[in-house]
Order: sequence, then structure tokens, then C-alpha cells
Amino acid sequence: MLDLLFAGGTLVTGCKDSNIVTNGVIGVSGGKIELIMEAPKHPQDLPQAKEIIRLDSEIIMPGLINTHCHAADSLFRGLVENMSLEDWLQDVWKAEKAMLTPETTLLGSYLGLAENLLAGVTTVVDMFWYPFETAKASIDLGMRLCTGGLFIDFPGVGNRTHDQYLNEASDFCSKYQNSKTIFPAVMPHGTYTVGPEHLQDAKKIADEYKAVFSTHAAETRFEQTDIKERYGRSVIRHLDNLNILDDRAILAHCVHLDDYEKDLLKERNSVIAHNPMSNLKLGSGIAPVLDFLERDINVTVGTDGAISGNDLDMWLSMRLAATLPKGALMKPDIISAKEVIGMVTSNGAKALGKSSDIGSLEVGKQADLIVISTQAIHAAPLFDPITHLVYSTAKSDVKHVFIGGKQCVRDGSILNVNMEDILCEVRKLRDPILKTLE
Ligand SMILES: [Zn+2]
Repeated sequence: MLDLLFAGGTLVTGCKDSNIVTNGVIGVSGGKIELIMEAPKHPQDLPQAKEIIRLDSEIIMPGLINTHCHAADSLFRGLVENMSLEDWLQDVWKAEKAMLTPETTLLGSYLGLAENLLAGVTTVVDMFWYPFETAKASIDLGMRLCTGGLFIDFPGVGNRTHDQYLNEASDFCSKYQNSKTIFPAVMPHGTYTVGPEHLQDAKKIADEYKAVFSTHAAETRFEQTDIKERYGRSVIRHLDNLNILDDRAILAHCVHLDDYEKDLLKERNSVIAHNPMSNLKLGSGIAPVLDFLERDINVTVGTDGAISGNDLDMWLSMRLAATLPKGALMKPDIISAKEVIGMVTSNGAKALGKSSDIGSLEVGKQADLIVISTQAIHAAPLFDPITHLVYSTAKSDVKHVFIGGKQCVRDGSILNVNMEDILCEVRKLRDPILKTLE
């Protein structure tokens, strides 16, 4: 007997062969998808299951994968506005340094990760100062998380030294190397904040544990000029010269690249985490996504932190990823909605080396799936579920979220953590946070 059965609804499977199953059935056992089929004519012919979730007009799709976030930065949402990245970072770091401890990081992580989860994100790639705390929040919420030791060369939050960062990164990878829900990574902040030798130290740990290496790269023109002046090479050339680029490198932003750098990313099979909302709001520019797609580079999508984009909304990110290239190039047919669904599901899974486990609804994969309501005004009439998901769905349409077959969101509410308690604590931080910039 199956553990769980979804009966009815439209399946958007995300796999290449059968993308849509109208009136479908999904069976789950041991956390994995055991069967996918069309609903039988007679309800009595449904497979037996301990729990049956009957759906009607809802859409079921794979959980979204957010490949660039700083969840705990939700504590500072709206604090620093109308500045370019370089000036903005100075205030952000000042506020973070004054406020962040493991305890406040944990609170912020619940806040940011819960917002992701409610929006249908089942896996988050997160870079932050206290990765063990982010991992705790993710585990408590029932999510999957890719994170790990941060590296930064100046005295940041907690005044840690490079050796301390190294130890923390190794300890994190060691603790979670076999975890099914926490995927270890090393996360140097960027080429302008971490020197070449320290970047290579971080890469060594990533190689030792076959972990993801994620960093900010080529986000602004200023950054490119700065790195060229310091090292005589542009950002992507610099990373490549340090032997850092491979298929486990997830590079956040990549807004300002020349053709050689784009070719290099393809050659090295590196991954792009495209963060359109953050890039627009900070005035960083528009990433050349079409050039990446034409080179068959793996393009994934992130929200960045709520301190830059102000909204951890993968649906908004998805919509911008789909529409910005069309508008910028005045070509409405250059990116399909199906391609964009791939960016937020299967491409993200591939970036994490987890294609066999997550990223699509397929037999044998983890049951990471989300149920989207189509009862809202903006969903009637509904012609094509794929274009509806990319262009019309709101995060508030996410009704249920299951991760590894376990329900984490029911009827739009978090199940595993008392968010009222978290919110109560977070609200107490408002005034002290505001004072940090005085
Ligand atoms: Zn970022």
C-alpha cells in the first residue's frame, strides 16, 4: 500500500517526455514517487494508499529550487534603499555586524526560509554568516538546503579569521556530507572580498567533499573594473585562472560578461544563478540570459536576499527571467515558458548534482512537489498550465508543499514551526536594527 496518493489535478511533471498529465495521479512511498498515471475512470480503481489527497483543478509541479538566497537577511528587508551595490554593501555589513549572532541568524533563517517555503520553494541555496543556524532552521521547517562556510577577508560578523572560516567550512561539509536534505557547499563571498589564495583554500574544501562552490560574480560593472585593476583579469577569467570553475561552481549574477567569459563558463560547465529582481532593484543591470541559453549554459534562478530584492518570490523571479530578455531584445519568442519552468526546477537540481533525486516529478525521485490552486480570479479561464505558472501564478496560489513526501505547508500555512513565535521575536529586533545605521 502506498503512503500517500494525490488523485486528480493537472500534473506538470517537468520531465522531457510527458510534460503535462491532465487528471493525473501520483503515488508516494518512503518519501519517493512510486507511480505517476492518468486517473482511472472509476474512483474505486485508484491505487490503495494510507492517505489520499483529492485534487480537482489544482496544478501539481516539482518544488521550486532557489539557487541564490541569503535567507536571514530578511531581518533587514527595506533597511537600505536606493543605493548601488558597492555603497549598499557598506550599510548592509554595518547592520549585519551590529545585529547578527547565531541566535538572530537562526530567527532570520526561519523568516527567510519560511517565506521561500510558503512560495513553493523546496530547496534553497543560501549563503550566510552562520551556516549551522541556517541548516537548523531548514531542518526544522522540513526543507532541503545547500549551504556551508562563508569566506570573507575583512573582519565581518563575529570577527572571524580565515582559519576560523576554513575550519567552519570543513566542519560543515564533514557533518552534512551524507545528508539527504542539507547539501554542503563552500561560499566565498566574491572575488572583490576574498583574495586569490583564500578562494583557492575554499575550493580545496569543495573538491575534498565534492561540494558546491558558490560565489557572487560579475554583478556590477564596478566589480569588473576593480578586479581587472587588482589582478589584470576580468572576474570570470580570474576565477578560471585560479582553477575554480567547473560544474560544481554556481556563480550568482553574471550580469557583466564579455563573450570570452560566456564561452569560458560553457567550457567549464559552470552554473549561473540569475537574480533578476535584485539586479534591477540595485541598478546592477540585466544579465545576458539569452547568450547563456544559446551557449547551453545551465541557467538557474534565485531571489537573492530580501535586503536587495525585498521579496523572496521565485514566481516574480521566474516571470522576470522570462520577460526581461524578450523586452530588452524586442523579441517575444526567444524564451519559452517551458524553458523557464526548467530553470527553476530541473536546472537547479542539475546545478546541485541532484538530478536523479529532485527537480522533476518522475518515478524514483523524491516527492518534492507543490500544489497550486487555480481558484483565483487570475486563473479563469485557464488554457495552458505552463504559461499560467510562468506568467500568472502568485506565491499566494501555493496551497500545499511536500518535501520527501512529508507535508510542510498545508492550505498556505507552515506546519512544522510555530511562525507566530518567530515573528514575535523578529518584531522585537526592529528598533535595534534601525539604530545600527544611526
Ligand atoms: Zn547575493
